[in-house]
Amino acid sequence: MVIFKRIAALQKFLQKHKSNKHSVGFVPTMGALHEGHFSLLKKSKEIANKTVCSIFVNPTQFNNPEDFKKYPINIEQDIYLLEKWGCDVLFLPDIKEIYPTEADKKESFNLGKLENILEGKYRPGHFQGVCMVVKCLLNIVQPSYLFAGQKDYQQCLVLLKLLHIINSPAELIICPTIREKDGLAMSSRNLRLNKNERIVAPEIFNTLSFMQQQLKPGSIKNLKAMGIDALTKKGFKVDYVEIAKAYNLESVDVWDGNDPLIILCAAFINDIRLIDNVKY
Ligand code: AMP
Repeated sequence: MVIFKRIAALQKFLQKHKSNKHSVGFVPTMGALHEGHFSLLKKSKEIANKTVCSIFVNPTQFNNPEDFKKYPINIEQDIYLLEKWGCDVLFLPDIKEIYPTEADKKESFNLGKLENILEGKYRPGHFQGVCMVVKCLLNIVQPSYLFAGQKDYQQCLVLLKLLHIINSPAELIICPTIREKDGLAMSSRNLRLNKNERIVAPEIFNTLSFMQQQLKPGSIKNLKAMGIDALTKKGFKVDYVEIAKAYNLESVDVWDGNDPLIILCAAFINDIRLIDNVKY
């Protein structure tokens, strides 16, 4: 694996491959890598000739500075894993490479309703930050494919919108959520869970799965309330439990039995915020 810290060197390297008509798959991450990231990389290796992974903990997508400070960093282990997984290129920029000036942190994107619902409502500015960094990374890497996880479902819809806004030729490939044996969605933030928190964390997936089994056409408002109640009783502080149309995340209170749905949740265990979703 070749590691680049500078844009110019990475682009020079990629140019050589692109002139050989090699396709590039791109997996942007914030590091503290786990099997979820590996699944994206594996998919990229299946589809593309070369796989570029980036590790950059992007400050502009953290609405909470404490969350940014506490974000797990594990760079040596990450490099070891990427080597083991067969990644071709790691882009490891520092902040000045991505945001040379303060003005570079101010670009804004018209994301419509997606911006202010669910994650957007509870993490104001989060998706603007995601778009800023992904636009910048896409400009640098110019991939044929961009890989993202369903675990961050709203982010996937935001990325689709971003690709459209910036007229990017990259195709978004959404990969299924990888889970621990007990159902907990893998996440870098899981590293922050203590033993007791780790024991209750799978209740998020259990609750979403229970709701999934109970879904039937008609009013589904009570089902959402039941989800919130169940998690609150287990000790979570719930931001939201929502059932929404899978294609635009519009909230559904009465289901016609036809619209594809997604059941989403964000909840805190003490000060650690976890998100998850299941499709229906
Ligand atoms: P992050 O490092 O958390 O920014 O995640 C980088 C990419 O990995 C994003 O596209 C995530 O959606 C994806 N990802 C994170 N966790 C998982 C998981 N458990 N399963 C599949 N993809 C994931």
